[in-house]
Amino acid sequence: MQLSTHFTLEEFERSQTAARLGIANAVGPDQLDQLDDLCNMLLEPLREQLGPIHVTSGYRSPALNKQVGGAARSAHMDGRAADIVAPGWTPLEVCEHALRLVGVDKVIHEFGRWCHLQTARLGKPPRRQAFTAVRVAGRTHYVPGLLSIAEAEERVRG
Ligand SMILES: [Zn+2]
Repeated sequence: MQLSTHFTLEEFERSQTAARLGIANAVGPDQLDQLDDLCNMLLEPLREQLGPIHVTSGYRSPALNKQVGGAARSAHMDGRAADIVAPGWTPLEVCEHALRLVGVDKVIHEFGRWCHLQTARLGKPPRRQAFTAVRVAGRTHYVPGLLSIAEAEERVRG
């Protein structure tokens, strides 16, 4: 099923972890509306700038979110978030482009490995927040702003 011109529902429900562990990961009607918004408001405009975008983690059922160690109230469970990479662009560059989009609620440069991109709940104003996630001494820290991983680590260590 097509969510927008270049994105399908299948790529948002696909999860190796869910498949391996037999966890159900089917999107419901509320999440479908949010995914529609995510694809049309953020991912399509971003694809226009960057070229093909791969969704590495899209929708997560509560059981899957728990299994992958997602945040307790992760926007992935609402169908409001996608972890993405774009060939030829660093994750930080993808984040920087994403943050300029109208309608972006939150962008996280995660561990230098991917860009987490999310929309607001339908009807709520987007907050336009940006963070860089780094792991220091076994803990994950969310440092405000879009930074290189080295710079974010330096800020955590003070
Ligand atoms: Zn994410």
